[in-house]
Amino acid sequence: MMGSMSDSRTEELRRALDATWERIGSACAAQERDPSSITLVVVTKTWPTDDAVRLVDLGVHDLGENRDQEASAKATAVRQARPSGDVRWHFIGQLQTNKAVSVASYADLVHTVDRGSLVAALDKGARKAGRRLDCLVEVNLDVGEIPAGRGGVRPEEAPAIADAIAAAEGLRLRGVMGVAPLGGDAEAAFARLADVREHLRRDHPDADLMSAGMSEDLEYAVAAGATHLRVGSAILGTRGPLG
Ligand SMILES: *Cc1c(COP(=O)(O)O)cnc(C)c1O
Repeated sequence: MMGSMSDSRTEELRRALDATWERIGSACAAQERDPSSITLVVVTKTWPTDDAVRLVDLGVHDLGENRDQEASAKATAVRQARPSGDVRWHFIGQLQTNKAVSVASYADLVHTVDRGSLVAALDKGARKAGRRLDCLVEVNLDVGEIPAGRGGVRPEEAPAIADAIAAAEGLRLRGVMGVAPLGGDAEAAFARLADVREHLRRDHPDADLMSAGMSEDLEYAVAAGATHLRVGSAILGTRGPLG
């Protein structure tokens, strides 16, 4: 497909992108926020490279993935198809330490840093690649016991991870990231995340990014002050069982 694409899937993606920006625009208007303060990260996980290229052709510059193998292959393929595409790759999945060197070679912002061993591994990878890698502290927003398979540190543990990122030569601390609790109160959760960001900014004034909000709850994230929204299904459609 790698020529210029303007097929029915491209049109479908264009309409869904427009509709998503309309939602963002309304949410911003309600808060007197400027929509240009929002980065829309389109989450392409499980979708083919062709869809990522279509999105780049539609003017999207921020793409999100949650598995290293898929992300690394897609980043390479998109770069080959659109060398001048100016794409930033966002790593938004739970990250195993042994994948950190790979992720540090292509990711532009890692949203999910939640433990010291990962800080060390990403730092090593970034320095090996001769890069300075932007990182967010993932804060777990679940209430009560953390369900199995959910990432993130408790809010009270966030400053220690933030300090470790800030102290790492190959990394740059940029802010916080959170996922609303399953079936829980996204509005309250994102307000807690905003509090964590304010707390961290006392020691790290540049850590001003907040990644929150997905297809279902992006309005709450905009209201709480998110700078980055991670939207997949509202743009690309419903994912299969492995998504
Ligand atoms: C998949 C995923 C998203 C996108 O979710 P949608 O509901 O499809 O918009 C956002 N954030 C994370 C961490 C994800 O894994």
